[in-house]
Amino acid sequence: MTLTYPQKICRNSSLGALIILLGTFNSLLSAKAATIIESFESGSKTSYAAADVSLGTGTWNLNDALIGTSSSDRKNGSKSVRITNSGTVSMMFNRTGAGTITIKHAKYGSDGNSTWNLRCSTNSGSSWLTVGGTVTTSSTTLSEATFTPNISGTVRCQISKTDGSANRLNIDDITITDYTTSSGGSGSSGNVHLTMGNPSNAGTSTNNLLLNKSQYAVGYNCAAGRPNWVSWQLNNSWLGSTLRQDDFRSDTTLPSGCYRVSGTSYSGSGFDRGHMAPSADRTKTVADNSSTFLMTNMIPQAPDNNQGVWASLESYTRDLVAQGKELYIISGGYGSGGTGSAGFKTSIDSGRISVPARTWKIIVVVTPGTGLSGVNTSTRVIAVDIPNAQGVRNANWKNYRVSVDSLESRTGYDFLSQVSTSIQSVIESRVDTL
Ligand code: MN
Ligand code: MN
Repeated sequence: MTLTYPQKICRNSSLGALIILLGTFNSLLSAKAATIIESFESGSKTSYAAADVSLGTGTWNLNDALIGTSSSDRKNGSKSVRITNSGTVSMMFNRTGAGTITIKHAKYGSDGNSTWNLRCSTNSGSSWLTVGGTVTTSSTTLSEATFTPNISGTVRCQISKTDGSANRLNIDDITITDYTTSSGGSGSSGNVHLTMGNPSNAGTSTNNLLLNKSQYAVGYNCAAGRPNWVSWQLNNSWLGSTLRQDDFRSDTTLPSGCYRVSGTSYSGSGFDRGHMAPSADRTKTVADNSSTFLMTNMIPQAPDNNQGVWASLESYTRDLVAQGKELYIISGGYGSGGTGSAGFKTSIDSGRISVPARTWKIIVVVTPGTGLSGVNTSTRVIAVDIPNAQGVRNANWKNYRVSVDSLESRTGYDFLSQVSTSIQSVIESRVDTL
């Protein structure tokens, strides 16, 4: 199945149409770009009652919040924001793009802990989406929380105190950087890792939840306790000499209500914590490598599959990069039940993580920097479909090659949907033979 770009946006949500509309009239909205730092030094507001205040970066609304100057206010300089109850601190202006946002925070005076989160809006504040996890402020010294909204278009953000208590929370120095993509092409979705498309139109629903990370993108399934798919760009710019971090851990950016698989959830199951985006594909920085150990990047993989045939294909993709290629890779599992070192299982972790029957991967090979525009009817596309079972340790991955069309019919996803339909029909029906 293939949909054109506008249809997909509309099917995703009515917000999509609004974003297109806002994008079209972007120049009329006087949106701001370039990194901004709000230090709260230039404004005054002495009561908690909701009101707008003019600050260095623009107008902000402080609700159950004021600008504190007392010795009990933790601050950089002479002023910081002080929030109580379920207060909010909101930008009343749009800017273009938000890559990362860092926020300094500490407890006021001798007050108890507070919890809060960051929300961003792409529709001028009509609705807000939480970015990352909830932060607990437990120190009286300013510390820094970092968020990665990775939003390319019109955006404004808000800090929201979520515990509702009378504990007072100081916030200072909010830094918002521009949205940037890594080297190579950029997808119309705004995430370079989705250059070839979002295979399941993942968005905000819990079993088709889009996780946009700097290092890869995930279509996550909370009920299955694993990704439906993970998609990532691979070129020389991602490769360096960072050592494998091995810090398998739960992904705290998952919304509450979505089971967080932990680093030990696979213990004793007979299945490996099988990376989708491999550790060895992200060796430029410690942060990049560490991100691949989030459990939202893992599926339960039979050891012979993971350490054998799958690992050899991973290694082959890095050989292609060494030969001067750029790759767009998508992988996941489908079907129910695999055979690990402790036998056949349909689920592990007391039923919270489902075991796929097959592991699949699609690799689009292009010239570095060309991204989507580098895809034509002669573009090499490698697709494989491998049993999630023991016995394939020494198998040749080439024996498991299939067409993208066959993976589309088995998974129900539309791969490479950003590629024109005429090119898709050629490259998706072909089975790689090189
Ligand atoms: Mn692996
Ligand atoms: Mn397709």
